[in-house]
Amino acid sequence: MDPISPLEQALHAARALVLADLVAGQVAEADVVSLVEESIVQRRWWVEQWPDGVAFVAGLVAQDVQDALLERYGRWPLCPVCGSGDPHALDVEPELGPDPHWVCHKAGVRVASVGSLGSAAGGAVSS
Ligand SMILES: [Zn+2]
Repeated sequence: MDPISPLEQALHAARALVLADLVAGQVAEADVVSLVEESIVQRRWWVEQWPDGVAFVAGLVAQDVQDALLERYGRWPLCPVCGSGDPHALDVEPELGPDPHWVCHKAGVRVASVGSLGSAAGGAVSS
């Protein structure tokens, strides 16, 4: 039995974090989950080429899924902070770095860590 490699651990964590945010946004349908899996496959290849990028995987998977959803479904995740104005999506920062967060550039705030959108949305939606 091989021990689980740091790469597989990072990919597993990234998958769990992004799925948690999809569940929080109530978009974790089967075909959406498959978008996550596609990203995981691509990022596994990417980290194999560049092992130093392993800490960046969660942020990259989040952005991959965000891009894929924009084509098929629309903006995700919608900003839970700004109560008025046009609905807009959050962005991942840093785009290429460890400890990724969702930020609203309109309000200029960090909304939540990637994987913690559920708690952020729970605070904003009180109905
Ligand atoms: Zn906003």
